[in-house]
Amino acid sequence: MEIDGPKGVVISPFLKERPEKADVYVLAKAGTLKNPRDLVASVIAARNLTQADTALFAPALASPANLALLVYLGVDLLDTTRVVADGLLGRYHTRDGVWSFSEKAELPCRCEHCRKLAEGCDKTGPEAVNLLVSHNLQKLEEELLVVRDAIRSETIREYVERQVRVTPDQTACLRLLDQEHSYLERRTPEHRHSTFFANTSESLGRVEVTRFAERVRERYTAPVCDVLLLLPCSARKPYSTSRSHRLFAEAIGSSRRYLHELILTSPLALVPRELEECYPAASYDVPVTGRWDREERAWLCSCLEAFLKKNKYARIVAHLDGELEEAVRDTGLDAAYTGGGTNSLALEKLSAAVSEACRGALRLPDLRLLRYKAQADYYFGEGAGCALLQGRVQVRGRELQDENKRPLAANTPNGSLALSLLGAKRLEPLGRYIVTIGDFVPKGSLLAPGVMDADEQIRPGDEVIVEGERAFGLGRARMSGWEMVESRRGVAVELRHVKERKPV
Ligand SMILES: [Zn+2]
Repeated sequence: MEIDGPKGVVISPFLKERPEKADVYVLAKAGTLKNPRDLVASVIAARNLTQADTALFAPALASPANLALLVYLGVDLLDTTRVVADGLLGRYHTRDGVWSFSEKAELPCRCEHCRKLAEGCDKTGPEAVNLLVSHNLQKLEEELLVVRDAIRSETIREYVERQVRVTPDQTACLRLLDQEHSYLERRTPEHRHSTFFANTSESLGRVEVTRFAERVRERYTAPVCDVLLLLPCSARKPYSTSRSHRLFAEAIGSSRRYLHELILTSPLALVPRELEECYPAASYDVPVTGRWDREERAWLCSCLEAFLKKNKYARIVAHLDGELEEAVRDTGLDAAYTGGGTNSLALEKLSAAVSEACRGALRLPDLRLLRYKAQADYYFGEGAGCALLQGRVQVRGRELQDENKRPLAANTPNGSLALSLLGAKRLEPLGRYIVTIGDFVPKGSLLAPGVMDADEQIRPGDEVIVEGERAFGLGRARMSGWEMVESRRGVAVELRHVKERKPV
């Protein structure tokens, strides 16, 4: 049909090629996708073969128990078909699953419909069926509110990890989805405002974890240094603000300028001291029991091995205790093991071990400069630190300045770097995190249709450089780079500074 306005197109599950252009895609037979593999494969195929700014509708599939998972998978529109049909068949839905209503001795709900049901109407009569349908609808609506709230508060992943426990099929869906790493990676923001809870075995494979580890491995280079000190993490973040790390710092004393600190932790594996304020290093929480299971150990040790292959040290001091020390010892790492701990004897041992290791060691540059260098590399890729810090730069407060005291970059409260136009100019030649626009001067927000090209690695929340024939500016990305390029609507970049370029 020829219509004005938004258009919907029905697509088959397991889509193989791009469907015709539309605004909403309706996944046919979605209600029959019971097998976890089929469901995950169908949604991923549909999302990968349609534009980012279109909606995916999966009819007859949603229940209070699976709503969060479906939304997290990438479904935008759901309906009430399934809970209504189930109500008519005498099935009772809650967030914890679905039951036969007639077998429920007591209803685990105090909604007005359940109150009436409990007051003792005929359990199989038409009145009961209507009440059952109304209850199911209410539960679905409540869950929708919970999920929307979890998205707004940036805790949807944590909520999904909890909620999929209701059935093995749902847990399987999440695990299968996590295996589709690039699908999730391309859609995961650079940082979140909420604390990252690593509560489950699925947390170890999360994009935030693998991305952090990958950046430490590939983008980050440790300062030239003779001595490496391995330390355990602390509950309080950033680590430096914790009691244990303040005690370590006191024990290390003046040796601090001669050694490089690396914090060992789960699930992030390795956090160089300079990156402790970056997301998620500054805002994660993990159940601490002192036990390191096999997966955690293997992950930690493989990261440590890769780190030491790239960054060389003459001597290593390991102030680690319990199973963490055991895990590192088992790798055969040649180090002075102090046994860890924070009591006075342990701290004396640490103090003695580092002053012994630091004898004759090379002195490090200012730690604050090292932080800016590491963060620039972390956020903009290898070489960004050297580009940003070239010349006689200095740190004042939270600001990095050039030799004429002009600001280059500043640390933000969420641990990211905010560039100035001058700082952006220094990074521009690297050609990364750049959004190319047409022949106009944007103001406030840069909308997606104005974007001509964008770096593929840009994620929502990233600091980006915007350049066009008539403008040079910077701001925070609101979409991934690939989304900016293919979208026809929406805000691509929230601009902070724009400068009009003089025509050549
Ligand atoms: Zn109820």
